[in-house]
Amino acid sequence: YGDYNQKIDYVFKIVLIGDSAVGKSQLLARFSRNEFSVESKATIGVEFQTKTLIIDNKTVKAQIWDTAGQERYRAVTSAYYRGAVGAMLVYDMTKRQSFDHMTRWLEELRGHADKNIVIMLVSNKSDLSSLRAVPTEDAEEFAQRENLFFMETSALEATNVETAFLTVLTEIYRIIC
Ligand code: GDP
Ligand code: MG
Repeated sequence: YGDYNQKIDYVFKIVLIGDSAVGKSQLLARFSRNEFSVESKATIGVEFQTKTLIIDNKTVKAQIWDTAGQERYRAVTSAYYRGAVGAMLVYDMTKRQSFDHMTRWLEELRGHADKNIVIMLVSNKSDLSSLRAVPTEDAEEFAQRENLFFMETSALEATNVETAFLTVLTEIYRIIC
C-alpha cells in the first residue's frame, strides 16, 4: 500500500557516527520504525534504513547509514561517508569520553565528506540526565564553535529524535533545492 509506485523527488544520504554504545542504532530504529530494543546487538555489516517523508510538497527519501561496529578510530571507511549530505554526530551524555571524542569524529567526517554537509551534534540518553557527565553548555559551545546544530535526545523515550532528523533533512533540502 502507500509507497508502491511512489515517486521520489530526492534521496538524501545521512551518516551516523560516534563511539560504540552511544545509541546510534537505537536512534535509527526509533526514527525509521519507531522501535527501541534494550538489548540491541552490535551492528554487523554496513546497514542503512530508509524513511520517506514530505518536505515542501516534495517526496524525500532519507537513507540513513549506521556504522557496522567500525567505531574504532579510523576504521570507518571512506565509502561510508561518500555522497553523504547530512551527519548525526552522536555521544552519550552520561559518558564524558564519548563527548571528548567528538573532535576526532568531526575531523574524520570533514576529511571525507562534502564541505556543505549538514551536521547535528546529538547528545543521546537524556532519560538518564541524573547521570549526566556533559553539561549542556559544553556541548552548545562546541556546536557553536564548529557550526553544528545541537539537540539532546532519548531514543528510549522518543524525545527529540524525529525533530533532530527532520531538522537535518529540512536544512539539506534548503541548501540543495
Ligand atoms: P551504538 O553502538 O551507538 O549503535 O549503540 P546502541 O544503539 O546499540 O545502544 C547501546 C546501548 O545503549 C543499548 O543497550 C541501548 O539499549 C542503550 N540506549 C540507546 N539509546 C538509549 C537512550 O536513549 N536511553 C537509554 N537509557 N539507553 C539507550
Ligand atoms: Mg550500532
